[in-house]
Amino acid sequence: MSNHLFQIPLTKLQGVGPQKAEELHALGISTVGDLLEYYPFRYEDYRVRELSEVKDGERITIQGAIASMPTMQRYGGKSRLICRVTVDSTLVTAVWFNRAFLKEQLTPGREITLTGKWDQRRRHLTVADSEFPDRSMAKAGTLQPVYSVGGSITQAAMRKLIDRALNQFGALIPEILPTELLDKHSLIARREAITCIHRPENTNEGQEARRRMVYEELFLFQLKLQAYRATHLKKADGLIHPVDNDDIRQFVSVLPFTLTDSQKQVINEILHDMKQPYVMNRLLQGDVGSGKTVVAAVGLYATVKAGHQGALMVPTEILAEQHTRSLGKMFEPYGIQVGLLTGSLTERKRRDILASLQMGLLDIVVGTHALIQEDVFFRSLGLVVTDEQHRFGVNQRSILRRKGMNPDVLTMTATPIPRTLAITVFGDMDVSTLRERPKGRLPIKTYSVKHSMMDRVLGFIRKEAEQGRQSFFICPLIEESEKLDVQNAIDLHMQLTQALPELKVGLLHGRMTAAEKEATMAIYASGDTNVLVSTTVIEVGVDVPNATLMIVMDADRFGLSQLHQLRGRVGRGEHQSFCILIADPKSENGQERMKAMTETDDGFEISRRDLEIRGPGEFFGTKQSGMPEFRLANLLNDFEVLELARDDAAQLTSQEQFWSSPAYGELRDNLARDAKLHGEPLD
Ligand code: ADP
Ligand code: MG
Repeated sequence: MSNHLFQIPLTKLQGVGPQKAEELHALGISTVGDLLEYYPFRYEDYRVRELSEVKDGERITIQGAIASMPTMQRYGGKSRLICRVTVDSTLVTAVWFNRAFLKEQLTPGREITLTGKWDQRRRHLTVADSEFPDRSMAKAGTLQPVYSVGGSITQAAMRKLIDRALNQFGALIPEILPTELLDKHSLIARREAITCIHRPENTNEGQEARRRMVYEELFLFQLKLQAYRATHLKKADGLIHPVDNDDIRQFVSVLPFTLTDSQKQVINEILHDMKQPYVMNRLLQGDVGSGKTVVAAVGLYATVKAGHQGALMVPTEILAEQHTRSLGKMFEPYGIQVGLLTGSLTERKRRDILASLQMGLLDIVVGTHALIQEDVFFRSLGLVVTDEQHRFGVNQRSILRRKGMNPDVLTMTATPIPRTLAITVFGDMDVSTLRERPKGRLPIKTYSVKHSMMDRVLGFIRKEAEQGRQSFFICPLIEESEKLDVQNAIDLHMQLTQALPELKVGLLHGRMTAAEKEATMAIYASGDTNVLVSTTVIEVGVDVPNATLMIVMDADRFGLSQLHQLRGRVGRGEHQSFCILIADPKSENGQERMKAMTETDDGFEISRRDLEIRGPGEFFGTKQSGMPEFRLANLLNDFEVLELARDDAAQLTSQEQFWSSPAYGELRDNLARDAKLHGEPLD
């Protein structure tokens, strides 16, 4: 049976003629099926409440008896009707505007249900809606759906229409989802869900109905992507990396730490892809400090062992140098050569590196954008890793990929939302997630303080230094002027040098030469500097496990994700770490961000709040304007459902049965019919 509700014209509904059908059409509703799936965007609550539990300013529904003769005032062309009502033995003043016709019906002693806005102090209700239980009770006690309406179609008319559609055709609503998925996620039947969404008996029922339909919506969407992928994308034209498990185990066993379970799992996922003939396109998301680098290292090791080369692209030179150092150390015992390619190499060094890459003398190259220049060639590029992917444009990543013959691609990020989300949705990437941090890491304690507490902040730096720990002191970034930015850092450096004469204070900013920056970082990393004053050049990736104190000056000038990245520079070792945000208490927006920062150090939660605070428009920017519109699902809140749906869809489309068995006919029809949502692959 196919879902023929989408073939039934609206005129089959009682009371819908050609003209009304036309108006509904303007709202995107052309068939009975469309109407049934025209969901409310919120509910009005008409459930009767006790006055004692009501707060000032709330919209409420109460029930009582009329206690006085109504009085009416007229002014201009308007009227105000006032009447006293006894509710739970409290006398309430009810006020109607422009409802003069009600006056006759307000007879003392009569029962009445009132809905409106409550003024606690004056015990005053501005009535939006009223009903008499002795006549009819259409709304009282219910949750009334609110639809988006337009033209001559009013809210009440829409409610009536949908009600009628449910009565006339509700029984024909087919189930689409396979039983195994309904059981797996304990979802209610489709017919019940659609009915409940329009007429929920209570909040819980409404939520269950919503849960079912959100899952369905995301599942159908994913099914389309996966079906496309199953038929087009999994072409066997990638590199096969023969991975020797014993070899990998040996490599991992000599690391200075044991991998977390999360890291092991993610490594397995990556190696599994690398062994396959299709091209890996995997996104690794993990909060700051979750240990993504070593995961990338294992992948790079595997590609080199298979006779290919690996490239690791990072957004800053400081990070490129750091990764070159740490990978170099890891790979040295195996004779694997790691090189660095950045924009500030001397011409001679650069030519050297390029030649070695092309001849295959260099196994792994770490670099910045310099990697994607035209004259960079590889002998055989097997794996491309991009770290902190949110810093790169889509094009930059695909240029690097094209420097090989379909190399495998691993993209890493500590900012899971929103771009990651977009990629998850559009980009046909597989997603791996590092859910835990290495064992023994203590949560970073975060405080937000005023500028006047600088003395105590300095005391904190001293205390950490006495324990042998190090601090970062980040200067405000001044968007308009890098020069001012640098000046700020220089000034702060001078102040701190004077205020902390017994400590070594370092300085790092964007105007220093690459060599100066590298030297400064190396000294700091070796533990010789107690405090490093820096602009945001160290924002991403920098890893100095002995650093335990992150201080951010004028923190209210930073975005939430950025603050979280900065905070992630500490808490990378076994010691208790701290983050102090010096912020202006008068910046309202700023305080909201400080609150989020002090309440959570979970990067996924931070992203969510960032979106909440900034709003989707600003958060998503214009780049991702192709975001699909869902009727019910909200990609941010329903992210986890999206992942479930994605796995289910992938599993289903990989089964031969899905393509042939009549049990999935409804789903296949749906795939064919629903061409409304389609995303372009991002990469
Ligand atoms: P990020 O995910 O932010 O890139 P890194 O890869 O830089 O994190 O790792 C952060 C720190 O944790 C590094 O010093 C790294 O050596 C260390 N590390 C990584 N994995 C583990 C582990 N399983 N146990 C202990 N320390 C680890
Ligand atoms: Mg990193």
